Amino acid sequence: RETGTALDIRGLTTTYGAVRALDDVSFAVPSGRITAVLGANGAGKTTLLRTISGLVPATSGTVALGSHDLSRTPAERMPGLGLAHVPEGRGVITEMTVEENLRLGGLGRRTGTEPVPLERVFDLFQVLGERRHGVAHQLSGGERQMLVIGRALMASPTVLLLDEPSLGLAPRIVAQILDLLGGLARDEGLTVLLVEQNARSALSVADRGVVLSLGRVVADESAATLAGDDQLRHAYLGF
Ligand code: ATP
Repeated sequence: RETGTALDIRGLTTTYGAVRALDDVSFAVPSGRITAVLGANGAGKTTLLRTISGLVPATSGTVALGSHDLSRTPAERMPGLGLAHVPEGRGVITEMTVEENLRLGGLGRRTGTEPVPLERVFDLFQVLGERRHGVAHQLSGGERQMLVIGRALMASPTVLLLDEPSLGLAPRIVAQILDLLGGLARDEGLTVLLVEQNARSALSVADRGVVLSLGRVVADESAATLAGDDQLRHAYLGF
């Protein structure tokens, strides 16, 4: 498996007025692995993803993707650099078909890559192939989550930021989605930064875990070490 650092986050601080949502956050995201970002409500997890992808400006600090500092890169350039962000909320275009939603994902793909065939996404998510001509508002929550992940993959990313994919989904669907991400990391070297409320599921698939509390990193360990640390689990992970 590929090793090395996909994203190097140094001293990242993001404020909303007087609220310091991220406070001097530093950690490395290893390539071709799944890193879970964990922590209670309001810990800063969503802000971390939004800062990395340029949706909110960093107050200070850097996010290195190769030779690029993403903290100085406009959000619209991220897909070209190979960074995809799947935000919370499964925002699909409900009036468009599954296929049309997927095609949108391929419009701003990573520079220098060939278009990703739709069949590739249908291989990963069979149900999307079965519903390819149906409009997206007919999809279930789990199917919409698959569609937003599939749409992100159409851009051929090297790094995928994923915010709370499990929210409101049945455990069986969550397991299916997490397994698939594990396969993409293992077999294709995709780097995944996964924000999850459900720490137990996230750590079952992740290689590493970073725990945030009040905008600060309180742990940055292998997933096995985190899952085995009773004190930390009880204090921050709720299981
Ligand atoms: P959750 O799991 O509830 O989404 P989170 O760990 O993702 O929580 P964030 O949403 O990043 O946490 O929020 C971090 C802090 O920043 C919280 O104190 C939150 O109230 C505050 N915050 C987030 N977005 C804004 C905003 N647009 N304006 C002001 N404060 C905000």
